[in-house]
Amino acid sequence: METINTEMKKEGMYDNVLRQYNQAADIIDLHSGIRKILVNTNNEIVVHFPVKLDDGTIEVFTGYRVQHNNALGPYKGGLRYHSTVDIDAARALAMWMTWKTSLVGLPYGGGKGGIQINPNNYSIAELERITRRFTYALGDNIGPDLDIPAPDVNTNSTIMAWIADTYSSIKSPSVRQKNLHVVTGKPVGSGGLEGRDRATGFGVVTSIKKWAKNAGKDLNGMTFTVQGFGNVGYWASHFLVQEGAKLIAVQDASATLVNTQGINPEELLDHSKGNSGNIQGFSDGTELDSELFFGIECDIIIPAALGNQITSSNCHEIKAKVIAEGANGPINVDAERAILEKGIEIIPDILCNSGGVIGSYYEWLQNKRSENWKLETVLDMIEDKLGIAFDKVAEVSKQYGVSWRVGAYIVALQRLELTYKERGVFP
Ligand code: GLU
Repeated sequence: METINTEMKKEGMYDNVLRQYNQAADIIDLHSGIRKILVNTNNEIVVHFPVKLDDGTIEVFTGYRVQHNNALGPYKGGLRYHSTVDIDAARALAMWMTWKTSLVGLPYGGGKGGIQINPNNYSIAELERITRRFTYALGDNIGPDLDIPAPDVNTNSTIMAWIADTYSSIKSPSVRQKNLHVVTGKPVGSGGLEGRDRATGFGVVTSIKKWAKNAGKDLNGMTFTVQGFGNVGYWASHFLVQEGAKLIAVQDASATLVNTQGINPEELLDHSKGNSGNIQGFSDGTELDSELFFGIECDIIIPAALGNQITSSNCHEIKAKVIAEGANGPINVDAERAILEKGIEIIPDILCNSGGVIGSYYEWLQNKRSENWKLETVLDMIEDKLGIAFDKVAEVSKQYGVSWRVGAYIVALQRLELTYKERGVFP
């Protein structure tokens, strides 16, 4: 049985983003025409494509790419390979990308997509054929100045390299080299950015550091728990342990592990690498009933898995000081209200996990300029950009007397509103 709730996720992700949006739009009295534009998605691409499996049989897969809005620049956002991917999930996630890129001041709009599969059911060779055929099916609906995918749940740099290779292979020879930046999150040897692998987790910890500073608290000695031990969960743990905090529980789809003495994220990563990516069976932790995870006594919770994990059914157990949303949409609107009433703070996803897309922006720029940047330079740039957004959110939330999530939406929506007001609507 999966310990991370995949059932609850879909119900509500789209509803959730709309409720968040409407709440902020009401507060700033967002222009009614612009409000109508932003509540809709620009384009919704659904493709069905056949792939030959290793045993010679043919399977038909369904892939999605929702392009929510491109007022500020090309559509930008990840591709996820998960059984929960459907049109509503892609819509919700695409909208969150529009708010995120606007909030952190990137020249991008928002998009998201993926394939409804459990990648564990396929061999590497099959995943490569599925990815390449999906890219082919998307054709010119993506492009370096149109819509730029990136990694998300269950996709990684290898998958991005296959997409870049397939996309440029179907172009004419004279323009092939110009298309490297059709995706970000590529391996460093293939035009990828040093540090893009850790950018999201690094950004999560940058946000937590800003929160601690704001609250006059010291991270040294604080305890934290992480849900999801993929790219975001691992790197966030890695950087937070460097600040002197102690990782006391981790939950993934295979198990919930606890060790109040502290779990070493590097050892847990080694274990999971040799165990099909699962944390189950790690010797330095005890298994706990999955339902008890969010009630574990700790200072910081980092949900870094799927959406809608914290709902009315489990939010009352939470005892942490702050929840840092590494995942997109991990807390639903009702649960959020109850959590804030208890005085627990929430660093909202569109701010907290924006390090990933900020890293993607630098990779895209690096490719456009044919440059190569050093890891330290990249991490400094991510910290700066995220820090500016954090300060703006803190200031606007105070000014309007609202939560950080609403404050973040206000910053994002005001930037979009200004653009539409300046440019008008064609014709
Ligand atoms: N999938 C990540 C997100 O949700 C990164 C998107 C990107 O880099 O384009 O923000």
